[in-house]
Amino acid sequence: MISASAPGKLNLFFSVGRARDDGYHDVFSIYQAISLRDIVSIRLASEDKLNLSGTLSQKQLDMVPLDESNICFKTANEFFMTAGLEPVALQINIEKHIPVAAGLAGGSADAAAMLVALQAMFETDLDLSDIGSRIGADVPFALLGETAIGSGNGVNLEPIDATEVEYLIAYPNSGISTQQSFEALDELRIEEQEIQLTMPGSDFYEDLRVGERPIQLGQNDLETPAVSFMPELQTWLELGGHVSGSGPSVYFWEPDATLISQLEESSLSWVLVSGNQSGARLETE
Ligand code: ATP
Repeated sequence: MISASAPGKLNLFFSVGRARDDGYHDVFSIYQAISLRDIVSIRLASEDKLNLSGTLSQKQLDMVPLDESNICFKTANEFFMTAGLEPVALQINIEKHIPVAAGLAGGSADAAAMLVALQAMFETDLDLSDIGSRIGADVPFALLGETAIGSGNGVNLEPIDATEVEYLIAYPNSGISTQQSFEALDELRIEEQEIQLTMPGSDFYEDLRVGERPIQLGQNDLETPAVSFMPELQTWLELGGHVSGSGPSVYFWEPDATLISQLEESSLSWVLVSGNQSGARLETE
């Protein structure tokens, strides 16, 4: 078996522009890779098969499709097509640690890990980021890791310096559909003539570099749709949390013990993670 892992991400800043003709939106995102990683292992098989394991609750794992609609199969097809290889059947094992449909790009991480494993198995030298950009807007960042500005639909990446800090991520057992979240935002903006992307001030980058909390941390155009789908998130935003991507995950910069005891009494799950982690990589047994 060949194994590779890839990180989930937080959006430390997320501005969403107009809807494009290709179905994506223009964005200005500051991505940061976190220490929650999924591990994808592959081997040749007589027919396609997918096994799922991991530390998440059964309710979370049940949200991951095991059939051909899993992003790992889509990734394999795109890889074989780009490589000009005859598709082969694969046994795929996903060890899932990134909460599902949570705004943490777990599916994109699996696609990135899958690409790294396939490149090793078939000894190719393909531009994985280019293949990844055809699978999903967050896949190139899951390949790159650490901290980066994402522009265009999120696939044009510019790495930036950041000190590793700790975050607490809180998430409910149910997810939010990214597509529905963007649609809700478009609906809210229906009267707006011109939709401008916003960008953080230069102090944001300096703060990340030295490990200080940026004042504009967590500015996110998808926060309002996320709260409209899950009004209970508002409580956690008022306690200093920020929605990642389309949510419903809420993250806290360097959390304190009081917050942890409040979360212990809530229905949310939570996990402590480090930021600025490496992108997709091969894992040796
Ligand atoms: P986004 O990257 O769009 O922000 P997200 O992080 O909110 O997405 P994901 O965990 O990537 O959400 O899952 C989105 C949906 O993708 C799930 O609800 C699930 O139906 C589908 N899916 C397909 N393959 C996978 C996979 N390997 N892992 C997780 N979800 C998958």
